[in-house]
Amino acid sequence: MKSFNYYDLLELFAQPETGCAICARLKVETERYLTALLYEYSVDFATHQNFRAARGLCNVHAWQMIHTREGLINVAVLYEAAVDEALTLLSQMTAPTPRNRLGRMFGSGEGEALAAKLTADQPCLCCQMVSQAEQRYFEALVDGLSDPRFVEAWQQSDGLCLPHLIGVVRAIKDPARLTVIVNRQKVIWTKMKAELGLYILRYGASGNDEAMGD
Ligand SMILES: [Zn+2]
Ligand SMILES: [Zn+2]
Repeated sequence: MKSFNYYDLLELFAQPETGCAICARLKVETERYLTALLYEYSVDFATHQNFRAARGLCNVHAWQMIHTREGLINVAVLYEAAVDEALTLLSQMTAPTPRNRLGRMFGSGEGEALAAKLTADQPCLCCQMVSQAEQRYFEALVDGLSDPRFVEAWQQSDGLCLPHLIGVVRAIKDPARLTVIVNRQKVIWTKMKAELGLYILRYGASGNDEAMGD
């Protein structure tokens, strides 16, 4: 039985102008995750502990959460815990005494120790979700290559972005499947290179920027 991820990719391969199908799915899953984080888990004890340990979300996902959601009160609730954690760590730094002032003169490494404490114990929660989802899509894509219908859809697709191509080719053990992936990607990138060349030829001399792909 095929996974949901298989059918998601199959559908996206057939849709024009999707770009990398794995990126498209991760965009949807990130939205879903951030919504769940705000509306279902913002008062959950374990989530708070993890949010503290991760020192909040990474820059990209933090901005995404703020810009795409209406639950700003829940953003505040989550971030209060993360800021409290950072403040607690800062306040644990020992106050300078005549003795450790002398130590500092010779480089006691307090700054290094504080930096280590402030460094998150785990990655951004959303990045962790994305990383796990990527692995699922890599597996679904590699498994799907045993199915002629899936291969046919892949041949019509927009290919993958470089990071996801790397993930997929790393997961492939069968040389025949590798060839299927590489051949389509070569077609996509050859077309892209030609389009870039045309764009440079058309607008490079004039210095006028126009939208690409028209
Ligand atoms: Zn991608
Ligand atoms: Zn992140």
